Amino acid sequence: MKLATLARVAVAIRPPKLLVHLPSMHRPISILSRQITMDAKTVASRLTSSGLLRTQGLIGGKWSDAYDGKTIEVFNPATGEVIANVPCMGHKETSDAISSAHDAFNSWSKTTAAERSKYLRRWYDLIISHKEELGQLITLEQGKPLKEAMGEVSYGASFIEFFAEEAKRVYGDIIQSTLADRRLFVLKQPVGVVGAITPWNFPLAMITRKVGPALACGCTVVIKPSELTPLTALAAAELALQAGIPLGVVNVVMGNASDIGDALLASPQVRKITFTGSTAVGKKLMAGAAGTVKKVSLELGGNAPCIVFDDADLDVAVKGALAAKFRNSGQTCVCANRIIVQEGIYEKFANAFSKAVQTLQVGHGFSDGVAQGPLINEAAVQKVESFIKDAISKGAKVVLGGKRHSLGMTFYEPTVISDVKSEMLISREEVFGPVAPLLRFKTEEEAIRIANDTTSGLAAYLFTNSIQRSWRVSEALEYGLVGINEGIISTEVAPFGGVKQSGLGREGSKYGMDEYLEFFKRIDSDDD
Ligand code: ADP
Repeated sequence: MKLATLARVAVAIRPPKLLVHLPSMHRPISILSRQITMDAKTVASRLTSSGLLRTQGLIGGKWSDAYDGKTIEVFNPATGEVIANVPCMGHKETSDAISSAHDAFNSWSKTTAAERSKYLRRWYDLIISHKEELGQLITLEQGKPLKEAMGEVSYGASFIEFFAEEAKRVYGDIIQSTLADRRLFVLKQPVGVVGAITPWNFPLAMITRKVGPALACGCTVVIKPSELTPLTALAAAELALQAGIPLGVVNVVMGNASDIGDALLASPQVRKITFTGSTAVGKKLMAGAAGTVKKVSLELGGNAPCIVFDDADLDVAVKGALAAKFRNSGQTCVCANRIIVQEGIYEKFANAFSKAVQTLQVGHGFSDGVAQGPLINEAAVQKVESFIKDAISKGAKVVLGGKRHSLGMTFYEPTVISDVKSEMLISREEVFGPVAPLLRFKTEEEAIRIANDTTSGLAAYLFTNSIQRSWRVSEALEYGLVGINEGIISTEVAPFGGVKQSGLGREGSKYGMDEYLEFFKRIDSDDD
């Protein structure tokens, strides 16, 4: 079997119809942002009264400041205003968090699966009962529209629920021995302390997707959330405490990313690193884990192709491409990065797609009807600008948008650019912003070649009404996830992860459990 076929672990299919760190500090603050400040204050006071606005790290069940008292500011990306200060932790705090997790592992790993399942279920119930506050917190520190943020809470919670159930289904194996008087058993046991390093684009879900299976297997964790969005992580940890999860099982440190990372990597007590983030940092962690030979799971960047064939249903393709591209303002690793359209449908698709993009309302995440919030920070906007400048200089045309939004700050206009070529920066690297580049192709072979011409291999999308083509192309695509006539492909029940330089390992689903388990062989002899 070819790599591409082996790699295919999750394919979301909708049958063809015919067949069945620093935010922009731009000031002064506008009237709009004054209005937003009011919202932020209301949200903050609600969160404080529900005990969810935590601003300290969690070590061994105790809320803790940085030992030297240093703090970092957390900003609202929609306004640039400071929401809270959190501790700027480093090596010492991380070492203590690891020790706490190691101590807690002794007892947590010996609980029964049924007990761990109950704790996780209680955590899930609490997350769901605080869905609104958690959603507001995500909007406040990350910027995505409230509806989308609430969607993230449901999605994030689903991993805790799923793995609460999956905890009970860790089976071993009995193997036929080559000797008559021997019995061979395979036992699955938790790997130990896990270091979980997460990004800012899904402040809750990237944590639950790692911590859910880790706890279900009997591991304990030290979480390092992104410094841009630590408040959601701390709120989730507070709810873990409220759920009765024993002290030390869940620890959270944040601050100096490389100090914390180095402490996690250097410790022989940490047996596994699970990471979601940039390919550059992922490679560093993978190299650093070699020193103590840790297990590593990496969910890194993508460069998702979204292929629209002549025989696609236009409405389905437009809707799917819109969802795949503009979710979270284009700031997800599975966002369509290149929309590759066959020449027969190119003009029709470009018109219909641009019309749909034009309807996306940009604004503050707390405002009604908003589909696109701000980008996370000024650096993100500058990256988008540089990619567009490069594309235009090489012949691309702006169909829609192409500039900062009149709201200012880090708001950017939903953008469509046409006549994009493979050699442009925007085709080669993840833009991580609300820009849809359209590329044109003639034949199926050419589409596959363009799609695979990248070092990434996370998500791909294709739109066609031919079932034969959907199988043929999806098997030829070197991507871990393929959406067929579908733009939203993440779910807790299917394995999520990439091939090539998009990562190692799978998250979610029954396969996600194996990442936190060691397989031990035991031999039993009949001899007395
Ligand atoms: P992004 O571009 O999504 O911010 P990063 O890879 O920079 O991606 O960040 C993802 C996570 O990795 C964040 O929590 C960040 O603080 C953390 N991180 C960044 N550098 C390091 C490092 N050297 N060691 C450990 N963690 C790091």
